Amino acid sequence: MNCNELMRHLNAYLDGELPALVRAEAKMHVAACRSCGIVVETCRSTIQVYRQQHPPLPDLLHRKVMDNVGRRLRPPAAQ
Ligand SMILES: [Zn+2]
Repeated sequence: MNCNELMRHLNAYLDGELPALVRAEAKMHVAACRSCGIVVETCRSTIQVYRQQHPPLPDLLHRKVMDNVGRRLRPPAAQ
């Protein structure tokens, strides 16, 4: 897996919704790639802080926000 592929799967990766094989590839990439490691860590921290300070978002709104974040993180060529 490369950086672009990881960004494409980021939402599902953070939500633990990737199939086992893809998740394992993503995990290996995150462990080896400093840039993606920082992105994943920052997203996780942000989500954690948000959850501590706000009641959970309704599912549909959560999905819309995460889709939007994923689109903004993707490089223009991947859109
Ligand atoms: Zn990477």
